[in-house]
Amino acid sequence: MSFTIPECLFCRIVGGEIPADIIYSDEHVIAFRDIEPVADHHILIIPKKHIASLSHLAEEDMTIAGHIMLAARKVAEKVGIAESGYRLVFNTGPDSLQSVFHIHGHLIGGQKMGWPPF
Ligand code: C5P
Repeated sequence: MSFTIPECLFCRIVGGEIPADIIYSDEHVIAFRDIEPVADHHILIIPKKHIASLSHLAEEDMTIAGHIMLAARKVAEKVGIAESGYRLVFNTGPDSLQSVFHIHGHLIGGQKMGWPPF
């Protein structure tokens, strides 16, 4: 997948320019540990293609979207939280406090959580 943009932090992680603790990679996605974890396990799952947010996801991105979900399942199994449970959160737009504009699912787990998240 070649569509990346140089000014995007996560595209630069995809390109290997910025180091990250990558724990999963396939044709369409990579997953790496968040540098400021909010839980025992906090992993970001991102498409290799630059897509700014869920609001920018197109019909043609359906395969990528599927890969993100399946990667979440595989990563949860890999880090040992598949049975205890986890969340997959996609902050999208201003109210959500999205700060990096390249789709990323926060896979969060390893401890008991509360609800609602605000
Ligand atoms: O949902 P939001 O856009 O706020 O999340 C961005 C996330 O990217 C933050 O949790 C931040 O810690 C993480 N991050 C990272 N590595 C970087 C820059 C940001 O893991 N180099």
